[in-house]
Amino acid sequence: MTSQTSDTPFNTSPVLPETFGADKEIQFECKKGISCWNACCSNIDISLTPYDILRLARRMEISTTEFLRDYTVPYEMEKDGIAGVKFRPVEDGTACRFMRPEGCDVYSDRPTACRYYPVALLSMRKQDEYVDRDSWALVKEDHCKGHAEPRRLTIADYRKDQGVDQYDELGRGWRQLVLKKKSSGPSIGRPSLRSRQLFFMASYDLDRFRAFVASEQFRNLFALPEPELLEILPDDDKLMQFSFRFLRQVMFGEDTIPFNETVAAARREKVKEQIRKAENEAAAKMAKDDEDPYAGMDD
Ligand code: SF4
Ligand code: SF4
Repeated sequence: MTSQTSDTPFNTSPVLPETFGADKEIQFECKKGISCWNACCSNIDISLTPYDILRLARRMEISTTEFLRDYTVPYEMEKDGIAGVKFRPVEDGTACRFMRPEGCDVYSDRPTACRYYPVALLSMRKQDEYVDRDSWALVKEDHCKGHAEPRRLTIADYRKDQGVDQYDELGRGWRQLVLKKKSSGPSIGRPSLRSRQLFFMASYDLDRFRAFVASEQFRNLFALPEPELLEILPDDDKLMQFSFRFLRQVMFGEDTIPFNETVAAARREKVKEQIRKAENEAAAKMAKDDEDPYAGMDD
């Protein structure tokens, strides 16, 4: 079984079913002065990756927590499953809040979907594998006149031109996680509320995740060597990669970070105790119901 996800920037984009490799030549150019200038940014539906959020928050010199609060809205990426994050458009409108008459106000830190457009990245993976294969599709929308420009280039060159390599590379671990979750379906089941909260924090709110990793609670639970912790904590990119590793443990129970054995044993004992208590309560209730089968019913 394979699963696929796309970085299509706009909901209404009719992604043509045909997919290509990186050597496919396309005809496209977006440049100032084109008749449709800013048309794409006037009606947005843009999903953000963890790295998109990090880049934009750093550019604006605010925390990822503040960025999420002020510039995004969460959405359900998967029915009953994990959450995604989208740009929040302007008040009472559909335009991007970074759109200016002269173009994008955050151009050098614009999100992955904006870089790729009108190309869509399609990632596929086989169930239970972390190896994904990329292919691309071309999005053609009537309002976008860039397709009529004469410039021809391969998708590989277009990706280079748009600087997506770094974005794809740093976001790969997260994309694989999402793909794995989407393709595992009911075998993994609905994640608990706690897992979903951890997924949101570790995926999108790196500054809060940093505080969590630095906390006593985290260090009590996990036996992460001190030098490794000290290397990860101050470095955004390393911390982000670590968050993906952490999420593989949270979402799929993989053994990616060693537990502190004493604490883990105590936790296991606590869970066992809770199960025992629930069983005793259930048994006591059943015994009581047997004594008086009509207990609790009105006359
Ligand atoms: S971030 Fe920039 S490129 Fe992307 S939709 Fe907004 S204005 Fe357009
Ligand atoms: S050519 Fe396409 S991508 Fe460029 S401004 Fe026009 S609608 Fe947007």
